[in-house]
Amino acid sequence: MPAVRKVLVVGAGIAGAAAAIRLATGGVAVDLIDALPEAGATGSGITLQGNALRVLRELGVWDRLRPRGHGFDSLGIRAPDAYGTLLAEMTDFRTGGADLPATFGTYRPVLAQLLLERAARVGARVRFGTSFTAIRPDGDGVEVTLTDHRTARYDVVIGADGVRSAVRREIGIDLVTRDVGIDIWRVVTARPASVHRTELILGGPLHIAGYCPTGPESMYVYLAETPQHRGPLSPAESLAVVRSLAAPLHGPWDEIEFDDPARIHFTRFQTHLLDGPWNRGRVVVIGDAAHAAPPTLAQGAAMSLEDAAVLGDLLLTAPVVDDALWTEFTARRLARVRTVVGASLQMCQWLLDGVRGDVPGLHAEVAALVSQPA
Ligand SMILES: Cc1cc2nc3c(=O)[nH]c(=O)nc-3n(C[C@H](O)[C@H](O)[C@H](O)COP(=O)(O)OP(=O)(O)OC[C@H]3O[C@@H](n4cnc5c(N)ncnc54)[C@H](O)[C@@H]3O)c2cc1C
Repeated sequence: MPAVRKVLVVGAGIAGAAAAIRLATGGVAVDLIDALPEAGATGSGITLQGNALRVLRELGVWDRLRPRGHGFDSLGIRAPDAYGTLLAEMTDFRTGGADLPATFGTYRPVLAQLLLERAARVGARVRFGTSFTAIRPDGDGVEVTLTDHRTARYDVVIGADGVRSAVRREIGIDLVTRDVGIDIWRVVTARPASVHRTELILGGPLHIAGYCPTGPESMYVYLAETPQHRGPLSPAESLAVVRSLAAPLHGPWDEIEFDDPARIHFTRFQTHLLDGPWNRGRVVVIGDAAHAAPPTLAQGAAMSLEDAAVLGDLLLTAPVVDDALWTEFTARRLARVRTVVGASLQMCQWLLDGVRGDVPGLHAEVAALVSQPA
């Protein structure tokens, strides 16, 4: 019998939905709650690496996701010159195994929808518009008061509530999230025929410019710049900024059109790492609540999915919830995540310093690590 019979997962993003699927599939009664009024219907694209796809396949989501995105096995590097000259092509590592693409682009709302559908299908109770007001762990369980004033008791509470995790705060973990010093514009747009994989321009007028196909006719584009502190911009002004940032880029960039301000997202690179146990008693944080890396290696979703899978397996197989379980969880996750966060930050530092670092070497090092199942 699993060590847990009833679990609350706070946050129905990638980590939380994955944890709910894993536990509910194993026969655990799972409540999955999210503060948003409803599942996110908007969002940009996302680049999933093979090790993320491996977990999605284990969760029973990959077969449905595969027709809703675009997989590929190489990475192109282009120059910020008048022709967008192709400087290098790197065969990408199939970190999820030979039968999964190295990289897969999709649309975030599609991934969210498929994860939540799967969670509901395997029996998790999914509720949006719900959070908590108090989490009180004691020796053998956790009492939680929800925002609808109901109180319920759980064997374990999983905080998968993102970078600004309220669960993390509630259990007394004080984690400083810092800005990396790079801002990013992401734009969902039509895919020209010349775009068939991710290609990056590193350096030049921007820190990174790149794109990732998400389907036969769709892609998303990213433009990462030094923070300009432009203040609040109207949709039309945002569109003008995106167009001006992309204007000096050539090659396939000449064919990319930017005409829908509703499909532009702006945010900044942030980072933190909870460099110690991620639990306090029977309450644990996973995903971005525990670690956030700038997306220079596109490993955030993969690390979040792996957290969920490893935690789910431990809770389903350990005879009791005790210190040994949490020690094993920390041992299986922390060093791996620390390496990925560190490598993602190293990429940023090279960009910020204008240094031509050993990008292929760093990719290879991380790929060798994450090719091993978590
Ligand atoms: C610009 C940018 C680009 C990125 N690109 C990629 C990429 O291409 N590939 C990749 O692998 N990773 C990427 N990442 C990282 C990736 O998005 C995250 O690592 C991943 O989404 C983390 O998932 P999560 O479930 O932990 O958190 P989230 O996706 O943030 O989900 C947290 C959920 O918790 C809910 N929530 C928050 N507070 C509460 C509360 N108090 N109560 C209840 N619910 C709450 C939220 O509504 C949300 O649904 C990118 C990140 C950024 C910033």
